[in-house]
Amino acid sequence: MGTVRDDAAAIAADLAGLRHRIHREPEIGLDLPQTQQKVLGALDGLPLEVTLGRALSSVTAVLRGGRPGPAVLLRGDMDALPITERTGLDYASAVTGVMHACGHDLHTAMLAGAARILSARQRELPGNVIFMFQPGEEGHGGAKYMIDEGVLDAAGDRPVAAYAVHVASAQYGHAQFATRPGPMMAAADVLDVTVRGHGGHASMPHLSADPIPAACEMVTALQTLVTRRFDVFDPVVVTVGSFHAGTTDNVIPDEAHFLATVRSFSAAARDRVRAESVRLVTDIARGYGLQASAEYLDGYPVTVNDAAEAAFASQAVADVFGRGRLQPEEHPMPGAEDFSFVLEQVPGAFIMLGACPAGLDPATAPDNHAADAVFDDAALADGATLLAELALRRLAAQGQPS
Ligand SMILES: [Zn+2]
Ligand SMILES: [Zn+2]
Repeated sequence: MGTVRDDAAAIAADLAGLRHRIHREPEIGLDLPQTQQKVLGALDGLPLEVTLGRALSSVTAVLRGGRPGPAVLLRGDMDALPITERTGLDYASAVTGVMHACGHDLHTAMLAGAARILSARQRELPGNVIFMFQPGEEGHGGAKYMIDEGVLDAAGDRPVAAYAVHVASAQYGHAQFATRPGPMMAAADVLDVTVRGHGGHASMPHLSADPIPAACEMVTALQTLVTRRFDVFDPVVVTVGSFHAGTTDNVIPDEAHFLATVRSFSAAARDRVRAESVRLVTDIARGYGLQASAEYLDGYPVTVNDAAEAAFASQAVADVFGRGRLQPEEHPMPGAEDFSFVLEQVPGAFIMLGACPAGLDPATAPDNHAADAVFDDAALADGATLLAELALRRLAAQGQPS
């Protein structure tokens, strides 16, 4: 039997075909019936125990190795975004307003490829592999639903490690892998504030209770909170992205409303910004004799790589592809990922893979979530190789990553 990399190269054209079919017919959210069918088609005939999600169109596949050992989980997300594609590719989305702009079509194909490569090694495999095909990563918390439906127990024992690869159309060098110990991506929460006063004639503000100046002050005070109350080396980001009040110039409205995204990179900073942001805005309202209702809505937690698993994954990249394919990941990314829910329960690593097409400069190419973002098919074989290698190596290492 050849190397995993050889096997991946041999099925690269199939993976590209699968990816293009998924790309052409993208689906959003938790219910992705066409994508699920394509995954089932790609897994057809492999020696897998397949179960389908109930609350979402997930696919969980378990490969039972021929030798005893622990379980490892590999994850690929399947959903697209509400974007009208402008790439001009021949396999571009056929659905107006829906596009695979985050490369999840590649992740799905890579994971199907890893399932095929590992299935061919079933007899020698010292343990089990859980393949987690997950809908609803883009804000829908699909990973949480799959955990609730038992994906982590699909092989019997809890997996000893979990891995996911994410492609990037920009920023990362061509075919470069990157990961880091500790925080890899941010927690992303929402602060939802309504300031209640009492409307009236704008010419006589002293007879009303104007919510607008207080709400404006809250926006700037939140920025001061960030710089005065939080360590620059354990930062938070607060951005008010929506602010609405009033109807016209000569009417003081009853209410002002704003929404902020709140990003943090540690559980401690997250707990503190949750408490302090709510207290700050309600105290400002009280100072002006107004009322504010502030709701802090928890989104995805911080994506935290286990230090040993991140080192293990980096070593696997170096062994299989050479050290030159590893790019340092100096800082966590301020985006968020629901693989974080898996990593809260299973030690593992989230690994980026540069998929900027040759001929484009990663520094200036359209980034993930852009309508003209393009991802290189060459990432497919590399991603499938790394996922399969991580499972093989981690199962061989048994208890501890080495
Ligand atoms: Zn995305
Ligand atoms: Zn993504």
